[in-house]
Amino acid sequence: MDTLLKTHNKLVFLPQPHGASEKLSNLSSPKSQELKFGPRKTFLRRGRNGCVRASSSTLLELVPETKKENLDFELPVYDPSKGLVVDLAVVGGGPAGLAVAQQVSEVGLSVCTIDPFPKLIWPNNYGVWVDEFEAMDLLDCLDTTWSGAVVYIDDKTKKDLDRPYGRVNRKQLKSKMLQKCVSNGVNFHQAKVVKVIHEESKSLLICSDGVTIEATLVLDATGFSRCLVQYDKPYNPGYQVAYGILAEVEEHPFDVDKMVFMDWRDSHLINNTELKTRNSRIPTFLYAMPFSSNRIFLEETSLVARPGVPIKDIQERMVARLRHLGINVKSIEEDEHCVIPMGGPLPVLPQRVVGIGGTAGMVHPSTGYMVARTLAAAPIVANAIVRYLGAERRLSGNDLAAEVWKDLWPIQRRRQREFFCFGMDILLKLDLQATRRFFDAFFDLQPHYWHGFLSSRLFLPELIVFGLALFSHASNTSRIEIMAKGTLPLVNMINNLIQDRD
Ligand SMILES: Cc1cc2nc3c(=O)[nH]c(=O)nc-3n(C[C@H](O)[C@H](O)[C@H](O)COP(=O)(O)OP(=O)(O)OC[C@H]3O[C@@H](n4cnc5c(N)ncnc54)[C@H](O)[C@@H]3O)c2cc1C
Repeated sequence: MDTLLKTHNKLVFLPQPHGASEKLSNLSSPKSQELKFGPRKTFLRRGRNGCVRASSSTLLELVPETKKENLDFELPVYDPSKGLVVDLAVVGGGPAGLAVAQQVSEVGLSVCTIDPFPKLIWPNNYGVWVDEFEAMDLLDCLDTTWSGAVVYIDDKTKKDLDRPYGRVNRKQLKSKMLQKCVSNGVNFHQAKVVKVIHEESKSLLICSDGVTIEATLVLDATGFSRCLVQYDKPYNPGYQVAYGILAEVEEHPFDVDKMVFMDWRDSHLINNTELKTRNSRIPTFLYAMPFSSNRIFLEETSLVARPGVPIKDIQERMVARLRHLGINVKSIEEDEHCVIPMGGPLPVLPQRVVGIGGTAGMVHPSTGYMVARTLAAAPIVANAIVRYLGAERRLSGNDLAAEVWKDLWPIQRRRQREFFCFGMDILLKLDLQATRRFFDAFFDLQPHYWHGFLSSRLFLPELIVFGLALFSHASNTSRIEIMAKGTLPLVNMINNLIQDRD
């Protein structure tokens, strides 16, 4: 999968599989050498102001060159010589695409999925709230769960969140979906789609290998590449940027029963004025999943910024933090460069190609989470396709696509998203102190509200109650900040809500 990197207002596609940078050392397996976060010459640089700066280069030397791993699967191959028009062509074999392919094929409709790496284990390290996966009967697809989570607001305030969290077992989830697809007769074509041509009752997908696939309906599930789905408004999302490592460490200070949802402490920057100033303006936090006393996933994350925080800056902050926490990295199993566009406009509704997941604006605009929401939306999309394309109401072309879009983005979901974008617009304006005050009040809310907000379960009337509750829980300083920074986004949201009607 291409990695997106934001440079000012332009998206650049880096041709590296999972963000492994070219300058990283040529290792096929993790190095076993130890990385000290002590005052080593190779590791620390003097900044222009004379202060000691953390360099990320030594950390990066431990990163394995690639973490590509294929599933051991025989996939039925699409045969172009038969010239069949399939009912559904799914472009992209991420969680969103495979979930729909599996469910549509279950009722006997013909499905072909197209992806350049159909057997590759998905590269992203997905975290979800356990109740989200439990509701979808997917608990067997979590490889580790934590009984709760913690949030460090600052050095003095720590919040215990009584909500179990889990890491998705990507291999298990993808295998499960592929197995169902295979037994339902889905065909696979290994290529990239480069173009779509629409005729009245079918569409032609032109692939990078010259093959053309004909389908009654096309689903774009290409994630943030947004391969086929069209947008007609300026694309100006915020960006969540994060750098994560799954590492073997000597030890770490965290409780292995709790994951660290957010650590906003900044005491690691006390001797680095330059980094501290940057972090005070656009803060980053640590997200950590401790698997044992010496194996841990650590991710330094900028929640949302426009333009996105450069990854090098994030790595530098991470190195300083780990050193301060006394975490000595011995080896790195995998690393993750994360760039998630958040908010921005929805695609044109409706349009001939349907979408799901990243391509269809489904990422949570205030959090960057999406995997659980997408998996929960897959049956809605699949049911709509089956209902309108299946035997009873054999629709095609624009009429069919319009019905599917209607079910994916009904008015209550569009209003919910508008509120989440409002949340993002406020977060974009908060510095470190204000962000801390915000989350201090947020996690003091009744669980129904903060769970519901994070898991997209609240709709507009309840979101308004949520907003008022948050405001009443906030400190006086925070209220003034919310009013000062939230008034314009609030007016925009109200305008957008008024304009958007069915
Ligand atoms: C590093 C990272 C970490 C994340 N972590 C989390 C998390 O912890 N929790 C969470 O809820 N969300 C997370 N997200 C957000 C979101 O859930 C993921 O991005 C998720 O993978 C999106 O699923 P998707 O199926 O829409 O797209 P993707 O998973 O991106 O899949 C898209 C597929 O389309 C294929 N493709 C692309 N272009 C073409 C083309 N032209 N033709 C054919 N195929 C094509 C790609 O090869 C890929 O297989 C994360 C995102 C990133 C980037």
